[in-house]
Amino acid sequence: MPTLPKFYSSLPEIAPFLGEDLPVLMYHKISELPPLVHPPLRGLYVSPKVFRKQVNELSSAGFHTVGIDAALSTQPHQREVAFTFDDGFESVLLNALPPLTSAGFTSINYLVADLLGKTNLWDAAFPETPQRLMDAAQVRDWLAAGQKIGAHTLTHPKLTQLSDDEARREISDSRKKLEDLFGIEVTDFCYPYGDHDERITALVAEAGYRTACSMKHGLHRVEDQPLRIRRMLARHASRSPRALLRAWRARLAYPFSKHA
Ligand SMILES: [Zn+2]
Repeated sequence: MPTLPKFYSSLPEIAPFLGEDLPVLMYHKISELPPLVHPPLRGLYVSPKVFRKQVNELSSAGFHTVGIDAALSTQPHQREVAFTFDDGFESVLLNALPPLTSAGFTSINYLVADLLGKTNLWDAAFPETPQRLMDAAQVRDWLAAGQKIGAHTLTHPKLTQLSDDEARREISDSRKKLEDLFGIEVTDFCYPYGDHDERITALVAEAGYRTACSMKHGLHRVEDQPLRIRRMLARHASRSPRALLRAWRARLAYPFSKHA
């Protein structure tokens, strides 16, 4: 029995698993690796070339993007995909927006509301060249290009380690801050580190969010809760012999024609 790959790298590998479920792809930084990067954080970088290839592959197979609110729908998701970006990195605006725009694709970027225009300070304990986050003017450019934003707290904490009051502040105030700054309604949330439990999910519901992304691996199923959306981390393809064999087999069985 084949199992869903642990990461998203190409459409053929997940094609056998697509039917009614929604693939929600998770990206962070669309950039070449910086000079200094802590090995566990390497997987959060996708090169501009690989990203463009992933977008083009989905587009030429006849897929179209849906908003994350598609997770509220009970309709089957056929040839639909959702693109999500965590943290609001500037590299996404610079390197992901052009291919998204040329494919007519939309996506959502989850912003850390107190850190706009700063860097990923929450990773400061690791050796990594700091990565810049979009400032307010860049977020306006992102929105003007037809892309969406959601909230990813004020400061990117592990929410389950906070008191109710602290967690409520991170969850609710980030929403309000983004709404005030950008004059739009913010209804979508993303848990930093995917860290959540019943208590945190209840606070997210109380704050009025309609959807919330986790880092639980998998395709989002119609029966899943919209406040615990499963995603697949998108990466470059692995070059291990096992992965190459798997990719080769997947291409042979690929069901989507070029002009679907
Ligand atoms: Zn994050």
